[in-house]
Amino acid sequence: MSTIAFIGLGIMGSPMAVHLANAGHTVLGYNRSPEKARPLVEAGGIAAASIAEAVAGADVVAIMVPDSPDVAQVLTADDGVFANARPGTLIIDFSSIRPDVTVELAGEAKEKGFRFLDAPVSGGEAGAINAALSIMVGGAREDFDAAAEVFEAVGKTVVLVGPSGSGQTVKAANQLIVAANIQALAEAIVFLEAYGVDTQAALEVLGGGLAGSAVLNQKAAKMLGREFAPGFRIDLHHKDLGIVTSAAREAGVVIPLGALVGQLMTSARANGDGSLDHSGLFRGVTRLSGTE
Ligand code: NAP
Repeated sequence: MSTIAFIGLGIMGSPMAVHLANAGHTVLGYNRSPEKARPLVEAGGIAAASIAEAVAGADVVAIMVPDSPDVAQVLTADDGVFANARPGTLIIDFSSIRPDVTVELAGEAKEKGFRFLDAPVSGGEAGAINAALSIMVGGAREDFDAAAEVFEAVGKTVVLVGPSGSGQTVKAANQLIVAANIQALAEAIVFLEAYGVDTQAALEVLGGGLAGSAVLNQKAAKMLGREFAPGFRIDLHHKDLGIVTSAAREAGVVIPLGALVGQLMTSARANGDGSLDHSGLFRGVTRLSGTE
């Protein structure tokens, strides 16, 4: 069993930290707004007052914060991980951030004597709560092997996809696929409703054929019920589509659907929907169709 510092106890980080505590690890959680540490404490974990306090005696530091600047700050600030963790500590960044930033931060971590994995996740809030996340990992094989008991406690499908940054590149592709799926599902539901079709029956049969998907299973009910509490915030998916479109441009490859759904995600934010679940793309379709 390890001593694990967990930085960022939000929608995803909180249930992940709870699973690690339930698995028998000593988990010291830090969250900027301290009340979010309560579920971890109820599961037997410890609420740390600062990042420095959380990481000082840790074997493993797990990070789950929103964006590239947040991860950089958690790692490099005076009271952050690099300045306060012990050399040799295994740092696992579960956040979804820019692959190029990950490569830089992983290099800095290694120069300072730390081990570093990028390990962004997919599966949504449900995946985090059910310890069923898909985890796409970038880094060295021996570090991946050393992280096995951490990954086992929070994930189901865990794959080492390549060197540092590769996990983030795979996650960017994941976010392109998910966004396009959500948009297509939203358009299909608005279309079905326009014809007065029994949408429950329609989605049951669609779900059994080639149109079936995890997106349909997890997001259709939210669209039918117009209930868009997050889940995965549109603001975060907007960040991810920025990552994939700029990385694709950098590589000289063309992702027209990614660009289109990126614009629709920007429109959702501009219409005040940034804090809704990404299934709230549905509202943009109804706005375009004048049906709501
Ligand atoms: P969230 O609920 O907003 O949680 C983020 C946490 O990070 C919050 O507790 C926040 O603290 C903390 N934080 C933000 N900026 C920080 C900073 N600069 N320094 C220290 N702590 C900071 O977000 P989430 O949904 O858990 O997402 C976290 C990451 O997982 C993102 O990269 C996201 O893209 C990815 N992800 C999310 C999902 C999902 O379904 N939600 C699925 C897969 C991947 P405060 O409470 O003080 O704001």
